[in-house]
Amino acid sequence: MATLTTRYPETKNYIAGKFVSGQSLRTMDVITPLTGEVISTVTLSGQADLDAAVEAAKAAYPAWSAMPVKERVQVFFRYKTLLERELTDLARLVSEENGKTMDEARAEVEKSIELTEFACSMPQLLSGELLEVSKGVECRIEHKPLGVVASIAPFNFPHMVPHWTIPNALALGNCMILKPSEQVPVSSVRIAEMLKEAGLPDGVFNVVNGDREIVEAICDHPDIQAVSFVGSTKIAKVVYRRATSNLKRCTALGGAKNHLIVMPDAHPEMTATNVAASMSGCAGQRCMAASAMVAVGQMDEMVSKICDEARKIVPGKNLGSVISKAAKERIEKYITEAENAGAKVLVDGRNCVVEGFESGYYVGPTVIDYVTPDMAIAREEVFGPVLAIIRAKNLDEAIHIENNSNYGNAASVFTQSGGVARQVMERASAGMIGINVGVPVPREPFSFGGWNESKFGVNDITGKSSIEFWTQLKKTTVKWNPESRTNWMS
Ligand code: NAD
Repeated sequence: MATLTTRYPETKNYIAGKFVSGQSLRTMDVITPLTGEVISTVTLSGQADLDAAVEAAKAAYPAWSAMPVKERVQVFFRYKTLLERELTDLARLVSEENGKTMDEARAEVEKSIELTEFACSMPQLLSGELLEVSKGVECRIEHKPLGVVASIAPFNFPHMVPHWTIPNALALGNCMILKPSEQVPVSSVRIAEMLKEAGLPDGVFNVVNGDREIVEAICDHPDIQAVSFVGSTKIAKVVYRRATSNLKRCTALGGAKNHLIVMPDAHPEMTATNVAASMSGCAGQRCMAASAMVAVGQMDEMVSKICDEARKIVPGKNLGSVISKAAKERIEKYITEAENAGAKVLVDGRNCVVEGFESGYYVGPTVIDYVTPDMAIAREEVFGPVLAIIRAKNLDEAIHIENNSNYGNAASVFTQSGGVARQVMERASAGMIGINVGVPVPREPFSFGGWNESKFGVNDITGKSSIEFWTQLKKTTVKWNPESRTNWMS
């Protein structure tokens, strides 16, 4: 069996610019899903750890928030060059703790760089509104930070998802507590180290590791003004309800079940490669992964092409592992249940073993045809490299199937008809639409966020939409001279 050489020290909290062990006695092993080996341990923090982090953030807030935004973003210009310098090492760590391939991990860190670039443009985006509203009287609007804010992350993008929030929230003048996924906490150590190297003042960014207990403490903490959450729908609902009932702002992104509608006129090669890549990238553990394909009309040739593409995806080579033994078992159970319910497994990724990595948690690419909309595999988030194909007679039926999902992150259509594409753009019930694009993630400066049970709260998590989330508007009316015109509000 392969052994990874990297064994990381205990993953500590990062508070007021220092790495400190958690005060809680609860700890957890961090396991690489590539081999099942322990690569670090992490403390599951408690209230005292959170209190210390919030105090550090509160102490840093007056100076940080008072700094002009053009100065604050200098940290992120420097941070971006550090990310570029460390790209390969950061990607290696992401791959080790999450299980994705090196190419996927590099792409993840490159996306963090793009998110950081966006934050560097904050001065241009923030230059405000000013108007002479009556003779000699001016009104102006400024975006002011909220104070101490929190960001809670999932396991599937240990580096990128924290960057959905860190650069923007901090550049806008907030101080942050990051709560990484306890399954992949090690990347946040490097994030903290590199922000410090870039010149971020101590206390502006803090990391508190942990699980349910610390998330609940964040939602309840009186000195945290806003909570951003990314994870499963079940927990997104819990966090959204709890944070908002404590009168905090909250945006909570949840799970997904993304539909790709494939029309009879779709370009065969482009469609087959895109569908296979979308369902299998990051081992299907992407909230933007194609997980249900709605095949419209006569599709046997297309399905066979997709199976050919899926067979080219080799676990341990261009397909990483899933996150845990439990995840592997859950995914394989979905496949078996669908098969027992009458679906046809065309490419079977169950019982996958990678030579040299026998203890790793791998599931091979899987294509299942003749799935019906009532099956669990058609309705629930599988979060593995599995494509469920549902057959539909026409576009109306395909859109009906998509619309019936509780989720609403992404929906795509593969077609050469502009009219059909336009119909899907208008009628799909999802926040992010792809036309001949299998993973329609909006690139910066466009914002990321789904609909329905894929997102709770008003704002998207990135792009310009996040500026509204991380700031509050201050409106000032100014009159200096006595000859200025008076009116009812003078
Ligand atoms: P998860 O919901 O299990 O965990 C997310 C976070 O919540 C973690 O930090 C975890 O510690 C915490 N948590 C777990 N159980 C909790 C509980 N009972 N109470 C309070 N907090 C709890 O999600 P995950 O398995 O880490 O990540 C995968 C999920 O995230 C998938 O559903 C995926 O679709 C979703 N996701 C969504 C998006 C999006 O943009 N919509 C992006 C990435 C991931």
